[in-house]
Amino acid sequence: MASTAFADSAPRACDLLVRADAVITQDDERRVLTDAAVAILNGMVIEVGDYATLDARYDPLQRLDMSGKMLMPGLVNGHTHLPMTLLRGFADDLPLMDWLEGHIWPVEAKLDEDLLGIGARLGCAELIRTGCTAFLNGYFHERVTGEAASGCGLRAVLGEGFFAFPSPFFPTAEVCWEAIRSLEEHFRDDPLVRTAVTPHAAFTVPPEVLAASFELAESLDIPWQTHLAESPTETAVCLGKYGMRPVEILRREGLLSPRVTLHHCVDVEEKEIAQLAASGTNVVHNPASNLKLCSGMSPVQAMLDAGVNVGLGTDGASSNNQLNMFRDMGLAALMGKVRHGDASAVNAQTALDMATRNSARCLGWPELGRIQAGHPADMIALDLSSPNLMPVFNHVSHAVYASTGMEVCMTMVAGEVLYLYGEFRTLDVSGLRKEAVRCAKWVRNASGK
Ligand SMILES: [Zn+2]
Repeated sequence: MASTAFADSAPRACDLLVRADAVITQDDERRVLTDAAVAILNGMVIEVGDYATLDARYDPLQRLDMSGKMLMPGLVNGHTHLPMTLLRGFADDLPLMDWLEGHIWPVEAKLDEDLLGIGARLGCAELIRTGCTAFLNGYFHERVTGEAASGCGLRAVLGEGFFAFPSPFFPTAEVCWEAIRSLEEHFRDDPLVRTAVTPHAAFTVPPEVLAASFELAESLDIPWQTHLAESPTETAVCLGKYGMRPVEILRREGLLSPRVTLHHCVDVEEKEIAQLAASGTNVVHNPASNLKLCSGMSPVQAMLDAGVNVGLGTDGASSNNQLNMFRDMGLAALMGKVRHGDASAVNAQTALDMATRNSARCLGWPELGRIQAGHPADMIALDLSSPNLMPVFNHVSHAVYASTGMEVCMTMVAGEVLYLYGEFRTLDVSGLRKEAVRCAKWVRNASGK
């Protein structure tokens, strides 16, 4: 008996075989496959290849036929404040400092866990709908956001935000460090949720507290993230307070490292970009938020050329006002060209890399952001029969320039389908609609407007 030959040709088991017209893999060669399939087992991709080959090779428990669609990695949102969906459209058309101090911070101080949970679930619904499968968050009472994400099947890295001490949330640094330790411990066994240390910014947290919090991140071996160099106004505040620009404050404290992710980096000079690159520090670009708050245009292509890992984020729904990574991906590509006076700057492949592989590194989760054997099965499908996606010459171009995010018809994390053809499988969106109305009344009362 040729038992070995028989075993080799016998179909292999897998949980799910997904077929699609095209797969943007975002693997190391950036292959785009046509008439392709992805085999998934235990939440991981085990093979990507042409459909005929995989169809003959596998005997899947389930099949998902996405003919007429293209698969791509789930987008990774490198910077957001998920529960800020509660404040979407509440204070618009203001510069950063007026917006924060006069409108956002007074209401945020009164938010409770019930409201934050509703805001977080609203945010999760929008992320799932627009093809985002993982996000790096920063806010208060982060256990609530972690439970919302885990409950609806999204990946999250949670950052319990803090300012100088004492604060309304944390009377001392020790109380804050303890809260972060217990958050990390609470989600340690959850495969979808991780933790990061998250001081607000270099102009709101004193240098010695930034340094102490970095030690905590090192001791827990988790990422450290903060807002940095968001606008020339912030630079002026740092110069006034400490006589140093924002990047210099971090450099002096030894806080430039691959463990670090800096959000915005709009106002950075050539020498500072070289320091970010040499230290392996990660940056997240937030184009819509930077435009809306009139913070400026980040020199993204210059940072990438220098070797900085630059991911992409939406920022909160109050300064964007969307959590739609497709819009930010398109804006990153368009704004990069104007910033650098060069139509080839931040090209489509670069923008897609930022929103997938680069953001994954910013989360400290580098295995995300690609469809490749041995990597988590976090994928989305775009409907190629949408009028704005016909005809197709270049799938990556369509993903970046032509898609609005509303073409997403399937969102999957770890092999679990969270959204398919208009149906949210892990969230009660009509219930959330009623909760949102209740929240709007609360925000009006809390702000006295
Ligand atoms: Zn932010």
